[in-house]
Amino acid sequence: MESTLSPATLSGKTVNGISIEQGMVVHVVRCTETQLKSGMAKQVYSLCGRTHDKNDYWSLSHAAHVTCPKCRKKIAN
Ligand SMILES: [Zn+2]
Repeated sequence: MESTLSPATLSGKTVNGISIEQGMVVHVVRCTETQLKSGMAKQVYSLCGRTHDKNDYWSLSHAAHVTCPKCRKKIAN
């Protein structure tokens, strides 16, 4: 399956059903087209080697601005 890169934040932590996005680091994850369309990815790693906790997932948002310095460096190369 073809893989693609997408900006993503760690999700799963919500307050009143609203994701806490402020102050969250935006990483870049390698995911599939299917995951990209669904807007979430599980069991994938960011370019800087991070992954989510057991009950969390990556929330994919292709319009997000990548803020993780390590991931930014990787996509720049
Ligand atoms: Zn990162």
